[in-house]
Amino acid sequence: MPLVPFADLLADALKHHYTVAAFNVLNLETAQAVAEAAERSGSPLIMQVFHAHLAHSGADFMAAIAEIISRHTSVPISLSLDHGRSYEQAMMCIENGFSGVMIDLSSSDYEKNVEETKRVVSAAHSRGVSVEAELGKVIDASSSVEEIGRGMTDPEVAASFAAETGIDALAVSIGTAHGFYADKPQIDFPRLEKLLSIVDCPIVVHGGSDTPDDDVIRMVGMGISKLNVGTDLMMGYENGLRRILSSSPDFIDLQKVLEAGRDAEIEVCLHKFGLLNKFRI
Ligand SMILES: [Zn+2]
Repeated sequence: MPLVPFADLLADALKHHYTVAAFNVLNLETAQAVAEAAERSGSPLIMQVFHAHLAHSGADFMAAIAEIISRHTSVPISLSLDHGRSYEQAMMCIENGFSGVMIDLSSSDYEKNVEETKRVVSAAHSRGVSVEAELGKVIDASSSVEEIGRGMTDPEVAASFAAETGIDALAVSIGTAHGFYADKPQIDFPRLEKLLSIVDCPIVVHGGSDTPDDDVIRMVGMGISKLNVGTDLMMGYENGLRRILSSSPDFIDLQKVLEAGRDAEIEVCLHKFGLLNKFRI
C-alpha cells in the first residue's frame, strides 16, 4: 500500500494501546531491515530520515525506497523527516513524497516555534501530510543527568502549544536523550503523566536507544504514541558489518556483507517491537 500520514498510525496506536516505532533509516538496507521487522511483528511503522542524513541519502531516493518497500509490505508505513530544521527543509521533503515531517524549532524562542510550526502545519495538512513538533529540549545522551533535566517540557505550555499549532504529535523532553547515555537516564514519569493527561495530541518520546527496557515498557504502558529509535538500530547494523568483515581479511561478496548488517539490525528492531507491543490489544 502507499505511504500513509503518521497521524493515522498514532490514532490506531492510541485505540489499541501500543506505541508506534519510529525507526531511523538512511539507505536501502536499513529501510529494508525496519520494514522486515515491522512485517514479521505485524506492526505499523514510521521510517524516519534524520535531517543531517538527507545530504547522504537524498530525500527523493529515500521517498522512492520507502514507497516501494511499502508496496511490498502488508503493514502500513509512513515516511517522516526527523528533526527538520526549517520550513524549507520540511517542504522539500513533502515535495519529494514524505508522508510526515517533524519541524524542530525547540531551540528557538516560543513565539518563533509556534509561528513556523503553524506554517508547516498549514502547508503539510493541505497535502495530507502529518506534522510533529518539539517543545523542551531533548539533548545528547553524553550530557549529565542534570543537563538533560534542564530542558524538560512544561506540561501547561505544551498544552497551549499543541492547541495553538494544530500539530499531529508533540515530542517532549522528560529525561531521555539522543544516543548512548553517560549515566542511566532519570525519566520524570509524573511529568509524562501530566503531559499525557493535558496535551490534546499524541505524545512522542525521543532517545529510545540505550534507555532501559523497563523504562520503555513503563512509558508504553502510560500511553506514549511514538518512540524514536536511531542509535540502537545503527549499532545493530554496524555490529553485523563488523562481525562479518572481521571474520575474513579477504574480499567478501558485498551482498553478504550488506545482508549481515541488515539481518543484525532486524533482530534489534524485533526486540524493540516486542516492548512497544507489550500491551497491544
Ligand atoms: Zn530526536
